[in-house]
Amino acid sequence: MTWVVTGGAGYIGSHVVAAFAAEGIPSIVLDDLNSGRTAFVPDGVELHHGSITDAPAVAEVLRRPGVEGVVHVAALKYAGVSVREPLDSYRVNVEGTRILLDECLKADVRNVVFSSSAAVFGTPDTDLVTEDTPKNPESPYGESKLIGEWLLRDVARAAELNGDRPFRHTSLRYFNVVGSGIPTVYDVSPHNLFPILLAAVTEGRTPTVFGDDYATPDGSCVRDYIHVADVASAHVAAARALAAGRDIAPAYNLGRGEGVSVKEIIAAVADVIGRPVSYDVGPRRPGDPARIVTSSERAQADLGWTAQYDLHEMVQSAWDAWNVAAAEGTARLG
Ligand code: UDP
Repeated sequence: MTWVVTGGAGYIGSHVVAAFAAEGIPSIVLDDLNSGRTAFVPDGVELHHGSITDAPAVAEVLRRPGVEGVVHVAALKYAGVSVREPLDSYRVNVEGTRILLDECLKADVRNVVFSSSAAVFGTPDTDLVTEDTPKNPESPYGESKLIGEWLLRDVARAAELNGDRPFRHTSLRYFNVVGSGIPTVYDVSPHNLFPILLAAVTEGRTPTVFGDDYATPDGSCVRDYIHVADVASAHVAAARALAAGRDIAPAYNLGRGEGVSVKEIIAAVADVIGRPVSYDVGPRRPGDPARIVTSSERAQADLGWTAQYDLHEMVQSAWDAWNVAAAEGTARLG
């Protein structure tokens, strides 16, 4: 049985496709190539070039024979950009998800794994976030992901009320996804710490730490970094559980439960590249919580999922993939 992976040509989506393939689960990619790249789609996997906001394109892939479910990764993902361009986030992340779900129902595709985000929590007032921590998104991006979760919940509730075949879903809330599990795929984001650091050290520029006067041990922000291959394997576990009709939770937080500061990431990069990395300290970036770290106990209990990779492996694999692209002349952000 086949899964449609929206955004499957992107950094995270292509890792999901590869994880499915490694488990013998076929997939079809639907991607508008806005931030995805054709070269990121694993060999042998069909790329259908189209947007989730284009109902006929969505319908075409969902009506392929044997489609069992959708992993919905496609989105505009830059929280900072979303503050300046809120309607774009709502158009793609909310309206695109609405269209996708509408077409899922019409095609009778009733299993959906949704890419949600730590951004739904905003700035939590707890050291260890759980799935039940209050949701206070601070950007249109975070809001759009929370609305996506609500859309899934509402569609499932309506199916139940209407006596339709059950609509089964879960949302995976990614914390800070980094690293590479495919030698030729790297994070292309011009806004995230890892790619910014790797590009800076390659190009001889000095990166900037956005604020070191936070109430954290070294003053820089603390995040829960997780390897993209670990995130991908959670999708396999979630898809399997949905397909098997198992009762799973509406949402799972995916992290390692370990807080790492920006300065510690810079030190880890220095360790991997074998030379010191100097940095400037700039002003705080608006909307950055001082610390956000999650427990993933629920994912472990329900999905049998635990993160396998440590910080060194995350930095090393990101650095290796960036260098493969650099050697090919294809290393660029954006
Ligand atoms: N960051 C930084 N300098 C940069 C980019 C990011 O200090 O050039 C910090 C940012 O303030 C945050 C952490 O790195 O504390 C992770 O940022 P990223 O954008 O990768 O992910 P986010 O946590 O915002 O989802």
